[in-house]
Amino acid sequence: MPVPFQLDENVFKEELEHLKSKNLLREPLTFEQSDGRTVTQNGKKYLLFCSNDYLGLSQDGRIVEAVREGLLRYGFGSGASRLVSGTATPHVMLEEKISLFMEKEAALLFGSGYAANVGAIPAFAGKGDVILADRLNHASLVDGCLLSRAEFKRYPHLDMRALEKFLVRYRAAKSRWIVTDGLFSMDGDLAPLREICGLAKKYSAYVYLDDAHAFGIYGANGRGTAEHFGVEEKMDVTMGTLGKAAGGFGAFISGSKTMIDYLLNKARSFVYSTAMPAANGLGALKAVEILNDFHRQRQLFWDTVKNFHAKLKSAGFGMSQKSYIIPLVMNGADRALEASCYFQENGVYIHAIRPPTVPEGYSRLRMTLSLNQRLEDQKKVIGLICRKKEIFYPRRDDGKK
Ligand code: PMP
Repeated sequence: MPVPFQLDENVFKEELEHLKSKNLLREPLTFEQSDGRTVTQNGKKYLLFCSNDYLGLSQDGRIVEAVREGLLRYGFGSGASRLVSGTATPHVMLEEKISLFMEKEAALLFGSGYAANVGAIPAFAGKGDVILADRLNHASLVDGCLLSRAEFKRYPHLDMRALEKFLVRYRAAKSRWIVTDGLFSMDGDLAPLREICGLAKKYSAYVYLDDAHAFGIYGANGRGTAEHFGVEEKMDVTMGTLGKAAGGFGAFISGSKTMIDYLLNKARSFVYSTAMPAANGLGALKAVEILNDFHRQRQLFWDTVKNFHAKLKSAGFGMSQKSYIIPLVMNGADRALEASCYFQENGVYIHAIRPPTVPEGYSRLRMTLSLNQRLEDQKKVIGLICRKKEIFYPRRDDGKK
């Protein structure tokens, strides 16, 4: 009798122990309940200060109702990929709505932002092409670039001189792609899109923008960082997620009709993956409708963000960036965990972000603001920071990345 092959569990155990000894073990906290503003664990409520539900739409009654109606009409799942039998009217309506919202010819839905990036980038770039990417790009962009088999070069965070040097060096490549986050997910700072687009034009490069955290919020109409910087015309590909400001789940890529038709045929994470449930599509459709008419609330949110930064500054925590993603950087993973525990003991949940999500020596609390929060919640958090300032030092907000 052949001996059945067995996984060597010791390899896993050793690695897990190693991660634990370095304070890098990941363990999700499980919440029994969430209302957007708070989460409940073991009967205890915590104010939530690390979610990406920036505009509070995850709890919006109009969206919940749209999903409920969708479930009754279309059932739970879509049953197949979009190209087999998984496309229902809500998918098409949502793609149309997104393309109108983004003022682009067309849009294509993906199951998630991760799926969009790992599917689209290899569809665009391959052997003989070069991809130039910001060093702090999101992991899904990195993975998409690696999967593409294009030459993959990373420039130091926001460093336009380094980007230009690469563009000069790779002038002869079949094609050049510049790939960047719009609003960086862990640092809350913005890519210099005007400069990037200028360089792209000068060196005939394409721009792939991951606007996961900015879609719905940045720009006068919420179209994201390209609208904010006035460079929408030059944006070749824009990826936006439906799981952050839009409050739900899924993602899209928007751009020209031909490019979208190409992706529909070539992006493997689209072709070979089950379609998002139609009910989710109806929920997202409602979310985009709401975002389309969200000017007053968007302004209110920005006022809150400004106000929070002013308070942080007077507490000695002036940030060079002024977004709703606020990193309290404190070097060691142990210190980030300690700070997270301190907040938890005081009824606030802020997850500690550690390597490899951020570079070694840059562990942090990634604090986020949301319309779900009340003024008193934000005051409480500032009070907690002030009460124990020593936890948050030494910290890095010195522009060095
Ligand atoms: N891009 C960025 C910049 C992100 O921060 C994230 C998620 N945190 C993604 C892509 C992936 O999106 P999703 O969560 O929809 O998979």
